[in-house]
Order: sequence, then C-alpha cells, then structure tokens
Amino acid sequence: MAIALEARSVVKQYQVGSGTVTAVDGVSFTLEQGEFVALVGPSGSGKTTMLAILAGLLQPTSGTIAIDGEELFDMKESARAEFRRRKIGFTFQANNLVPYLTALENVELLLRLNGQYNAAGKPRAKELLVLLGLEERLNVLPRQLSGGQQQRVAIARSLINQPALMLSDEPTASLDTERAYQVVETLASLVHEQGNAGIMVTHDLRMVEYADRIIQMVDGRLGQIVTPKDDLSCLADPNAAACRLITAEELGYAEAGTAA
Ligand code: ADP
Ligand code: MG
Repeated sequence: MAIALEARSVVKQYQVGSGTVTAVDGVSFTLEQGEFVALVGPSGSGKTTMLAILAGLLQPTSGTIAIDGEELFDMKESARAEFRRRKIGFTFQANNLVPYLTALENVELLLRLNGQYNAAGKPRAKELLVLLGLEERLNVLPRQLSGGQQQRVAIARSLINQPALMLSDEPTASLDTERAYQVVETLASLVHEQGNAGIMVTHDLRMVEYADRIIQMVDGRLGQIVTPKDDLSCLADPNAAACRLITAEELGYAEAGTAA
C-alpha cells in the first residue's frame, strides 16, 4: 500500500503572553491509503492543533508533513490553498456552511470550485447526502437543519472531491448514538472504498470500532497506538500498561523511538 500521509517530528508551540505552550510535541506517524484512524486523547492534548497542521491550515513550529508524497509546507501559501482544495477534505467543529445555499448546493459548491460539476461529479453530491441520512433535507437551508444535520452536510462536502486525506474533528459531537454510528461507519467505508486516508478525532471510545488503528495523544505526544481489537481500557488511563504499543516499524516509520 502506498503512503498517503507522513508526519515527521511535528512540533507546534503557541506564544501565550510571555510564555510558550507546546501543543504538539514531536509527533511522527504514517497513514497508508485506505486507512481510517481514530485520534483520541483528553481535552487539551493537541488533537485539533495536529489536525489543523495536517490540513495545512496551521504552520508547525518545526517538522514536516507529506501528503501523497508532496511536502505541504514547502509549498507557497497559494499553492497550498489549491492543494488543500483538491487533496484534503476537512470538517472542523465550526461547520461554516454557506447560509444562503441549500444542503445540496453547499456540497456541490466544492465541485464547482474545482471544475468538477459535471456528469460524473453531480450525482455524487446527492449520493453522499443520502448515505449520511439526509435524503429528506437536500433542498433546505442550513438554518433549517439541526446542528447534527449541518455537521453531516459538512462531512458530505468534505468528501465530495474524493480527497487523498479526509480529516474530521469530532464529527459525532452533536449526534445521537445511532446517528453517530451511522456517520462513522459511512466515513470508514468511504475511506476504505475510495482508498483515501482518513483521520477522525473523537473522545467517544464507542466510535473507534470502525477504525483500523487508534492513535492516542497525551500532552502533545503520541501515547498508545492500538487497534479496536485491543483492550481499550488503557486509552481511558494513559498510564495503564494494558495496551500494546504498536512499534515504529509496524507504523511504517523507520526512525527509532518516535512512537515510544
Ligand atoms: P485538543 O483538541 O486535544 O483539545 P488543542 O489542540 O485544542 O487540544 O489544544 C492543545 C493545547 O494548545 C491546549 O493547551 C490549548 O490550550 C493550547 N492551544 C490551542 N490553540 C491555541 C491557541 N490558538 N493559542 C494558544 N494556545 C492554544
Ligand atoms: Mg479539539
């Protein structure tokens, strides 16, 4: 399998007053095409910061990100914006739907921006919304949708371009359990079918069963990396020894010590 994403020694520090907060503290991992990963960890552990860096929205203090073999932060800002639009689909907690466009039009918008609003692209917008359980809500405006429905429209929009990398920050935060499972299962199966890579941030451990791997962040570093079949109690307690730590070699990352 080809490597979809490679993060190497990523560090992000924020200046806060006269001090420095290290939100991401030397994170390295790789994702293969077709892999769907859950990123878990306590609040403040650096998950959103890491996702924003992977999306090319936030410049790391040091370290590199390669997506589909291309170095994200070697690009000029304008090239990175263009790359992001073609190759990266993301939904963050704030959905930013266009208020005067319907659900369907919001999803189609990205097709138009990329010149893919054609016979091949058009049916996909509707298909995705139906897959996400929104067949009754295609033609209504965002303000007529619940928070959870808006979130699902944003997820459909993030997937419409079949991005190489799909990033989603707490996609199930405002969904009931049944909907949440439906959305996560859809995300996982789309990633598996389309062969793109996906990362979902969640702090709901029930949602990790569809993930191929679970990566835990603790204090800006990688903690445990496990699969849904392992004993997940270790993820609730970062200090527990119960979880198996996947080795750097298994991760496809050769540099010794980085996953420890
Ligand atoms: P998580 O998503 O896991 O809750 P975040 O990435 O949001 O974690 O935050 C990681 C750390 O970085 C926290 O200590 C948070 O307070 C800090 N942080 C996040 N964003 C900023 C910012 N824009 N400026 C200063 N500190 C920040
Ligand atoms: Mg967060």
